[in-house]
Amino acid sequence: MRILVSDKISESAVNKLKNLGHDVTVKTGLPPEELEKVIVDFDCIIVRSATKVRKNIIDAGKNLKLIIRGGVGVDNIDVEYAKSKNIEVRNTPAASSESVAELAIGHMLSLSRSLTVADKSMKEGKWEKKKFQGNELYKKTLGIIGLGRIGRETARIGFYGFDMNVLGYDPYVKEVSKPPVKIVDLDTLLKESDYISLHLPLTEETKNMISTEQFKKMKKNSFLVSCARGGIVDENALLDALKNGLIRGAALDVFQTEPPVAGELFTLENFVATPHIGAQTFEAQERIAEEIVSIISEYK
Ligand code: NAD
Repeated sequence: MRILVSDKISESAVNKLKNLGHDVTVKTGLPPEELEKVIVDFDCIIVRSATKVRKNIIDAGKNLKLIIRGGVGVDNIDVEYAKSKNIEVRNTPAASSESVAELAIGHMLSLSRSLTVADKSMKEGKWEKKKFQGNELYKKTLGIIGLGRIGRETARIGFYGFDMNVLGYDPYVKEVSKPPVKIVDLDTLLKESDYISLHLPLTEETKNMISTEQFKKMKKNSFLVSCARGGIVDENALLDALKNGLIRGAALDVFQTEPPVAGELFTLENFVATPHIGAQTFEAQERIAEEIVSIISEYK
């Protein structure tokens, strides 16, 4: 199979694919017009989140049979259009769940104990012990929106690690028993949670799902974390919510535009940002690579 790797995957995966006899070309960072020109030479394209496989690329890929997204969200691929052209679209859904869940919990700890701000203050030569009084996660209420793989893993860490009372909202999930999650409606979750963590996909329905109306319902001392997809949280509304004390703090790993335009949000002490690193662990990358190799090995 002639394979184009257009976003970075591990070298071991590339070598394994070559050893299996595939013709592998690694060309990352291709501008879209360049990709449109070269795609005709390939049967398969492997992407992460950077490469956009839109209609024009699919139309130009006359020999394309398989599109593989190393990772979970396939919002950078026109999946239905690809399918209509008999092109299979695969992803590696389970590979990064643990890493993303750990990041979400990490953000909760970081927000609760002002880790990033305290570190910055120390590096400026200050010793602001009184300023950094925080709070525990222990026995607090954790609200999970989206009870899929990552949401449940986050619930598991919260429940078993911090004895948290876990609430969950997911219109497609009626029960989660291990860890025990109390299924509630969205309003109840917003009103009762001390920590709200988003683990749902970006769709037409979930775009700007967390906006001013939702912030107004949240507890004033609550924290919001999103390691899901940019666009689910309305960033302008978040800025207002943080400035006006509607919630106590927020952390985002994902943004409406990536990289984001550095606006006022990035000047706030109660806002923490990471550059879409949910799956950026050695373990997740290795699992993603292994899954990509097995998808291609099993492809008929
Ligand atoms: P999943 O498909 O296993 O779970 C998503 C859940 O969201 C499903 O249970 C679904 O029923 C639920 N859902 C759908 N619409 C909803 C709505 N309107 N309200 C509430 N719940 C809704 O996916 P996953 O593997 O758990 O991934 C969750 C999110 O994390 C995705 O957006 C994915 O793109 C993102 N993600 C981010 C990173 C990162 O680097 N930050 C890495 C991997 C995945």
